[in-house]
Amino acid sequence: MKRLKTLRARFAVWTAGLLLATLGGFGLFEYVSLSSSLYRSEDDLLQLSVTQVMGVINYENGQIATSDNISDSPATIGSRERGISIRVLNQDGQVVQSTGTYVFAQPVDQSLIRDTAYFETVPDPSTGIPVRVYYSPILQSGHVAGVIQVAHSLAGIQETLAQLLVMFLLGAPLAGLAAAAGGYFLAARALAPIDRITRMARELSASDLSARLALPATDDEVGRLAQTFDGMLARLDESFGRERRFVADASHELRTPLAGMQAIISVMREERRTPDDYEHALADLSDETNRMRALVEDLLRLARGDALAAKLAEKVQVSSLLESLCDSLRSIAEQRGLALVCDCPPGLTVMGDTDSLLRLFLNILDNALKYTARGQITVQATNDGRFLRVSVSDTGAGIAPEHLDHIFDRFYRVDPSRSTAGSGLGLAIALEIAHAHGGHIRVESAPGEGSTFSVELPL
Ligand code: ATP
Ligand code: MG
Repeated sequence: MKRLKTLRARFAVWTAGLLLATLGGFGLFEYVSLSSSLYRSEDDLLQLSVTQVMGVINYENGQIATSDNISDSPATIGSRERGISIRVLNQDGQVVQSTGTYVFAQPVDQSLIRDTAYFETVPDPSTGIPVRVYYSPILQSGHVAGVIQVAHSLAGIQETLAQLLVMFLLGAPLAGLAAAAGGYFLAARALAPIDRITRMARELSASDLSARLALPATDDEVGRLAQTFDGMLARLDESFGRERRFVADASHELRTPLAGMQAIISVMREERRTPDDYEHALADLSDETNRMRALVEDLLRLARGDALAAKLAEKVQVSSLLESLCDSLRSIAEQRGLALVCDCPPGLTVMGDTDSLLRLFLNILDNALKYTARGQITVQATNDGRFLRVSVSDTGAGIAPEHLDHIFDRFYRVDPSRSTAGSGLGLAIALEIAHAHGGHIRVESAPGEGSTFSVELPL
């Protein structure tokens, strides 16, 4: 019973069951229709035989007189060869002629003399095998002059029907077995890839997701399942890889300020220092702590990114948000000799989270300030009916095409020497926030001429 749990065993049982049911129905129909047609042709044969006997009967003075002896008359030779027994009775119920091996059981008397024809099936008194008997009156100018009786054994028909039954009873189980084997084989063939998928899924571990089924690409259900499975593995593999790199990069970034702090402390403890030295060291330590706090906050923000999408219920006044952001950054820009222009029509709003959007624009503006040596930074906001578009253009260093695809990756920085402060998380956070709002960030840049970051937020 346990084996029936497999799909192929169930498939085999169903195939065999269906075949047996079809064969059974078909066989029954065949048997019934064959037997009725055999019995009908038997009756036809008896009637034909009576007609032939009628042809050799004459009448003398209203009495039956057979011109030929029916036992050797050419008219009845066909009937005799078929084994039909014939008896002719006169109107008194006396046997006038008879031929054939069958011994008519009924006593010969007046009751057999009727004016209608009829059939009867009676058992042969010697063998018990049923015999079909036909009685036909001999009518002579309106009254019954006698009766013709013909009889034929039904043994032949019974034998044919019995053979048919045996054939079905032996053949059907064999056909059922063959169908079950065929069904099992076919199902096993079709389901083999599924077994492979199961085995592979069982062996997979999070540390190694590199395995693939790589089954030959077929466009059937199983082929599509295998391809979907491989696709899912590839995506899992990639996202696990990304997480691993992220953790490695994060630990690496956290180690740098920690190592700096440790170095400051151990230098200070080497000997007695003046209060001024200690004050310096504390200021340095505070810088490092600030760097580390900013980094940890960024990491937390990234980790929370997915949860952000759930709470975008505020109506954010983007125009005033950008104006006040520019106002607060303007003094820093001017200290560096940069002009900061904010060109935002009033009244632009989107649904979202104010703090997150502030962080998004701050990160992009912070970059523009950091990577622009001279010139101007322009913030422009437009509404194109479907999107609110905020673009931040600078006249700074620009980004080479080979880096453009990566600047939104976590910890990715174009300048490997890390001469400017930062951890490479700013744009990753900005993009995550844009995605959580259903929007996107595009970047266009020409090295040496400047960059434009465009934030698109659905209205
Ligand atoms: P953080 O923002 O975490 O302090 P970061 O500014 O280096 O560090 P991102 O804001 O993610 O990190 O930027 C990634 C990199 O993209 C930067 O290191 C810089 O090389 C490049 N980049 C970003 N914005 C500009 C820009 N406006 N002009 C030129 N390069 C840019
Ligand atoms: Mg940045």
